[in-house]
Amino acid sequence: MKYFRGLISAVLAIVICASVSPPSFALESECACGFSPVIYVGPLGCADIVRDAGKDSEQRLWKTDTPFLLKNFGKVSGTLLKGLSTGDYDSVADAVVEFVNLSFGDLALDSEGKSRENVTVPELNIPSSSEHGPEISFYFDYDFRLDPFIHAQRLNECIQQIKELTGHPKVQLKASSMGGVVLSAYLETYGYSDVETVICQCCPLWGTAVAGELFCGKFELNAESLRRYAQTAIPSLDGGDVAQSLLYTLTDVFRITGIWKLLVGMGNKLADRIIDRVFSDALIPIFGTMPGIWSFVPQEYYTEALDFMGIDRSSELFNRISHYRTAQTNIAGNLLEAREAGVKTYIFCGYNIQRTPLVTAWKNTSDGTVDTKYASLGATCADLGETLAETYIDSLSDKKYLSPDRMIDASTCALADCTWFNRDWLHCNGQPAIDEFYRRLLTSDEQLTVFSMEEYPQFLQNDKNAGTLTPVTGEYSYRDLFREHHSLLNLVRLIGSFIFKSRSVGLFNA
Ligand SMILES: [Zn+2]
Repeated sequence: MKYFRGLISAVLAIVICASVSPPSFALESECACGFSPVIYVGPLGCADIVRDAGKDSEQRLWKTDTPFLLKNFGKVSGTLLKGLSTGDYDSVADAVVEFVNLSFGDLALDSEGKSRENVTVPELNIPSSSEHGPEISFYFDYDFRLDPFIHAQRLNECIQQIKELTGHPKVQLKASSMGGVVLSAYLETYGYSDVETVICQCCPLWGTAVAGELFCGKFELNAESLRRYAQTAIPSLDGGDVAQSLLYTLTDVFRITGIWKLLVGMGNKLADRIIDRVFSDALIPIFGTMPGIWSFVPQEYYTEALDFMGIDRSSELFNRISHYRTAQTNIAGNLLEAREAGVKTYIFCGYNIQRTPLVTAWKNTSDGTVDTKYASLGATCADLGETLAETYIDSLSDKKYLSPDRMIDASTCALADCTWFNRDWLHCNGQPAIDEFYRRLLTSDEQLTVFSMEEYPQFLQNDKNAGTLTPVTGEYSYRDLFREHHSLLNLVRLIGSFIFKSRSVGLFNA
């Protein structure tokens, strides 16, 4: 009897085990949820860089706090005021150089591309949880100054850990801004075999003109770009509709009263006198030592930048920055190859925003930081405030990649079918409608294209304040903008457009 009972228990145990165990062909730890974990590869500044971490003298050096900057300003203010009041521009330059060095000098890397020992990122994220899903992603952060290949190696380690923790054979990578640089180095080194999806959001995949031009010493300040920069930034500022409307009105008042021109005139006079010193004694010795910042230099500026910045071709720094050239040059090919092998691949970039108004390339349409032509891997773009030439448009055999506002031709993009353009989207600025778009991409089993979703054609209009993403439908006027979203800001923009006869949102033709 005892024996019989034992036999029954054994049979029962086998039946129970078989019913709760996964099928025999599956790995014991495999997850069946159907959603591969997402790794968000963060932008520049995703991790705090700290001097003297853990000590009384601890100071954050990136995303520095205001008291630290004020303290440094206090140290140079005497020299600055004396220089400004007596017209002694050498003293002004001394003050600016000292301020930059006090505030950011310790961020400089040595000739090996290594940080000072007391300047560190004390807490980098490491994967520890098995939780995953459309609303949960692992945040990959890094020290933006360093060689992107160092981050690529750590990203690979994180991917292996996340695969093990979650029981998924692949991950989905969502890169934001400089995250695209890390992604480029990763794909160049490790390929795509662990990757199910790639999303590039506002990524300087082919660099950004502001880095290229500043590293070539090309500096320009002008009234038009300064005013447009202020105006296009306003809808994304915190503070609400009334504050945004007041600021916007102020920019038009500045325009009528000629204050922009006055400011630029003063700025240029000052800049002409001190800019060489600021470059040679502050910007080059600090930011020129960082392979991470070099990764932003577009290929077309690269050789000139090496010469201007005086990079020693036999140095370790040169080895590192030239190594990244392979990743930047090959990113289009690497993404194409991945896509052909079944990796879902998506590029999403902004346009119609005034870029940083300090460089000669200020007419490039952009998201404010990254030029649309570099983020999109090759779109043909009209200058900001213009449309593509009629002769160019007429020469297109197929106009299905032409934006309805005639500002962008996406047919020249490396991955034209899966590159979206978001009009009036300030660099990486999030809003619910964009989150919804990403959710759609991440939860899809198959590659989606600019032709496969009616609500998400290739060219979208971003309205952060309304929280919408709508198809671009031809020339977009301030009247349309106001009709779609009755905000005070949009009313002020509409009135301003009547006064200045501007044609469209980003067009401010005087
Ligand atoms: Zn799962």
